[in-house]
Amino acid sequence: AAATPMSATTPNLKTSLPPPKADGSRMNATFVTLARNSDVWEIARSIRQVEDRFNKRYNYDWVFLNDAPFDDTFRKVTTALTSGNTRYGLIPEQHWSFPSFIDQERAAAVREDMRERKIIYGDSISYRHMCRYESGFFFRHPLMLEYEWYWRVEPSIELFCDIEYDTFRFMAENKKKYSFVLSLYEYVETIPTLWESVKGFIKEHPEHIVENNSMGFLSDDGGKSYNHCHFWSNFEIGNLDWLRSKAYVDYFDHLDHDGGFFYERWGDAPVHSIAAGLMLRKDELHFFNDIAYYHVPFTHCPTDEQVRLDNKCHCNPKDNFDWNGYSCTSRFFEINSMKKPEGWEKQQ
Ligand code: GDP
Ligand code: MN
Repeated sequence: AAATPMSATTPNLKTSLPPPKADGSRMNATFVTLARNSDVWEIARSIRQVEDRFNKRYNYDWVFLNDAPFDDTFRKVTTALTSGNTRYGLIPEQHWSFPSFIDQERAAAVREDMRERKIIYGDSISYRHMCRYESGFFFRHPLMLEYEWYWRVEPSIELFCDIEYDTFRFMAENKKKYSFVLSLYEYVETIPTLWESVKGFIKEHPEHIVENNSMGFLSDDGGKSYNHCHFWSNFEIGNLDWLRSKAYVDYFDHLDHDGGFFYERWGDAPVHSIAAGLMLRKDELHFFNDIAYYHVPFTHCPTDEQVRLDNKCHCNPKDNFDWNGYSCTSRFFEINSMKKPEGWEKQQ
């Protein structure tokens, strides 16, 4: 997908697209998707939605990452659907394998135990590599090094409202570093010692913990224990330079060496959320209320009717998860002294 116009006779669908609305003033940003070849039709649906609701006006690039080479079908289908440049990256083996300090027998015993206890993805090796990769490596892939901002997109998501402004520019202009649309409580069984590891990190690197952080989102007792609240990381718009910072990389290395990606089943969502909660200031986090979103099984649909009408939303407000008892979004509003939208009580 070329950002520069091609001759009108070139048989390329992309020549028929209008130029980016914000031509010349776009941010250094990309969509990023981790996927298998077998995810092609599910990611196709996601791309179509992101393009229709947002990217047809901006034509941002799209980076696809995979632990195996992408096949021709995956490349053809995704390139045809996107308005920006598509790029396909292979993940280096050292970022998708057991580190030398992991005891493989112990890891195998844990998987067997979690299989018997029917913990979701508990017996999966690939899911663990995926969580570790999203926690510590995607932002360091050679293709990603060229960008400052990312928007993560997973297969089979839906977007329900038009997004009529440049979300990356919004992040930059408002000095935001990390954002979310849905938040919830993590399954305790997958992270029993994560908070102990975080406490070890805090002790070792107190210089990385910022003042005015969001500890109140993560803990109900000033940091003694974790309340399991996290931002759902299948959607993220964030700053890559922050993830590449010494603070974040020190944090990831500390967690990685404690082994919980393999000896438990630490997810990238709590890992990113705890980092954002402790190493970014409160005002560097953003709740994108106007990005209405679905990833099985949860929906974020703006509570405020006027927001839904103004942005041509097609979600059912009854499906909105924000004010449900299992959501942590109320807590986010409270620690930031944000006013909840009218009608939120009725969606509790
Ligand atoms: P869930 O949302 O937690 O149920 O997990 P998903 O199955 O959606 O996986 C999260 C993301 O990682 C998605 O973008 C998947 O396409 C991707 N993913 C999961 N497992 C693998 C894998 O083994 N290889 C690759 N390349 N991508 C994977
Ligand atoms: Mn998913």
